[in-house]
Formats: sequence, structure tokens, C-alpha cells
Amino acid sequence: MLKVNDNYLKLPGSYLFAEIARRVAAYSAEHPEKNLVRMGIGDVTRPLAPSVIEAMHKAVDEMGKAETFKGYGPDFGYDFLISAICENDYKARGIDIAPDEIFISDGAKSDCGNIGDIFSTDNVVAVCDPVYPVYVDTNAMAGRAGDYDDKHECWTKLIYMPCTKENGFVPQIPAQEPDIIYICCPNNPTGTAATREQLRGWVDYANYVGAVILYDSAYEAYISDPDVPHSIFEVSGAKTCAIEFRSFSKTAGFTGTRCAYTVVPKALRRQGASLNALWGRRQSTKFNGVSYVTQRAAAAIYTEQGKKEIKETIAYYMNNAKIIREGLSDAGIEVFGGVNAPYIWAKTPDGTGSWDFFDILMKKAGVITTPGAGFGPSGEGYIRLTAFGSRESAEEAIKRIKQIL
Ligand code: PLP
Repeated sequence: MLKVNDNYLKLPGSYLFAEIARRVAAYSAEHPEKNLVRMGIGDVTRPLAPSVIEAMHKAVDEMGKAETFKGYGPDFGYDFLISAICENDYKARGIDIAPDEIFISDGAKSDCGNIGDIFSTDNVVAVCDPVYPVYVDTNAMAGRAGDYDDKHECWTKLIYMPCTKENGFVPQIPAQEPDIIYICCPNNPTGTAATREQLRGWVDYANYVGAVILYDSAYEAYISDPDVPHSIFEVSGAKTCAIEFRSFSKTAGFTGTRCAYTVVPKALRRQGASLNALWGRRQSTKFNGVSYVTQRAAAAIYTEQGKKEIKETIAYYMNNAKIIREGLSDAGIEVFGGVNAPYIWAKTPDGTGSWDFFDILMKKAGVITTPGAGFGPSGEGYIRLTAFGSRESAEEAIKRIKQIL
């Protein structure tokens, strides 16, 4: 008789965004006249850069001619894209990453989720709290998270590392020793980022205990603070303990186009095995690459014109972040993030619960946010706002919030 992977049966429903959608739908049905401003959106809204579109058109034309048509591409990505990444994302920052340490993929979400394939299910996993839910759920699916504790809304075998105002939203080394450590920097949902020195502590620790850091820097392009590294490999020693995930999604508006990459250094070995070789084996077996057209589109962001264009879009979003951050602060709300990331993490006033404050903002101000509690127990007492909308909607949301507070 067939048995399903019963780890899936332990997963709580995808509660956060479903519950937000349910509350918004119910409220809108009762108040169709209300024009809600959506500040919970985690997706980009600006169109692809002209250079990207031009490169895609050209690549599409190549696919239409026998002489330039492309079938399956190289397993780990085309050289033109890999060498542009090596040059621009690493060499230009003084980091030496070899082409065969880069694996092009269709998304950081898939890579963060799939990387667990190369690790035993016996490993102890540490995640930040609050956290991007993919790290937790994919470990739960693999059986590394234990059971779900409904009462405390957490998994019994995962180590949750609280990221709070008190520790500056940078996790402390936990009492129990982890084998796999997820760090997302700049962070979703808190919008905060660890400095080079703070990351050095984690790199030294991981090398010392033999753990592996899974470093998600999907929001790297939003960093403005020179003390915040753009790559974990800016920290010496990281090549023997870290894997880095990057994405074109938020960097260049590729959420609907799909392209990302993962760096697995050849120096990273455990139990005598090269993790670079294991990941290569995994990818070449289960993944058939990103389309030629998409990889040409991604490579276009590394041209002089492409760089300029994506910088403009990021500046547009970060100006929204400034409007939101300063506006909330003027309204007497304590805010974090929004300087090195397009997320603003706002403390709810007078200890109001996340969901209660979400309801207040929706019903009184007509502004939709994301309750922090949905990202983990330590997110209680916060809400997340994103800067991915239009400038007008950021201004309107702040105007309305100021009016009700
Ligand atoms: N990592 C983090 C921290 C994210 O917030 C997101 C998207 O919201 C992703 C990864 C997903 O990136 P991609 O679109 O490349 O799958």
C-alpha cells in the first residue's frame, strides 16, 4: 500500500497569506466603497529594465533561426551569464569565485528549498525567528523539523534564533549546536542586515563546529550601508562553511521571469565530500536549467546601461522605503529596516498584537500590511510593510496611518 511522505501531513496550512486574503476579502465585501492601499505585497511592481527587454527580444529572434537556435543549455548555466556574475558580483568586490562554483537556477526559493537534498535528515537546523517561511517548511517536509507544536506555533526539533529589537535583529549563537544555519541578510521580514563583523562571528563559529551556513542574500542589491557585506564571501573563512543564494527577482524585477544563482565553493567539504560536487550532482539530475532567453535577459543587467537602469528602480523602491520609515516614525511608531532592504518592520503601539494591529490598519486606515507573528513567534508585536508599490501608494498609506494614530 502506498505511503505518502507523512511529514507533509504535519505541515500547518499556509496560514499567513491565506488568512490575510480571507480578512481582506471579508472586509472588502462589507465595504466595497473603501479603496485599500496594499503595503503587504512582497512582489515587485516596476517593469523589467529596457536593456533586459532588448536582450530578451534578441534572444527570442535567435531561437527562431536554425543557425542560432538553442536546445538544452549547459546544466549549470551559460558561460556568458556565469562570467558576468563572477566579474560583477564578486571580482568587482574583491572576491574570487570561480565559474564552476556558480549554479544558475530558476529561483532562490527553489534553491533554498532544494539544498536540503544534499544534507542528511539527521542534521540539526537553526533558523532565525522571524523568518522567510521557506526554510522552515522545506526542512519540515524533509523530516528535519520534528513535529508541529500548535500551541507555541513552532516545530519541536528546529532551533529558533530570536531576532529582536534587543539583539538588533541579529541572531545570537544558540545553546544547542546546529549543523545547518540559515541566515537571510538583508532580512525578510525585518528589513535589517548584519554587519561584516557580526557575520564574522557566525563564519568563525560555523568553521569551528563544522556547521554549514545557508546564506540568502536575495535583497543584496538594496544594501546602502558600507558595513553590510553584499556577499558572505566578503568574510574570510566563509568559503569553508557557507553556501550563498542570490536572485534576479528583487535585484532586477525577475519575479515573473525567474532566474537566480547559488554559489557553492569548492573548498566547502564535509565528511570528505565536496558540497559543490553534491549540489552539481543534484542539479544535473533533477533540474534542466533556465531558458536561454532568460539567461540572456539576466546577463543584460551587468551591461553599463543595464546596471544604471536597475539602480534607478531600486532607488525608486528605496525612496518608498524612506517615505514609509520616516512617516511611521513621525506618527510615533518605532520602525526598523528600510535602509538596506525594501522591508519596514514596525513595532505595534502599546503592545497591540500583530493581527489586532493589522485589523486596525485595515479597518480604520484602509491599509493592508503583513502581521509579524506570521513569520515566527518573535514576530509577534510587529507588522511588515513593503516598499514595492508606487510612491503614491506609500504616501497615501502614510497619510492615512498618521490620521488614525
Ligand atoms: N529569499 C527570500 C528571503 C525572499 O524573500 C524571496 C522572495 O520573496 C526569495 C528568496 C525568493 O526568490 P526567488 O524569486 O528567486 O525564488
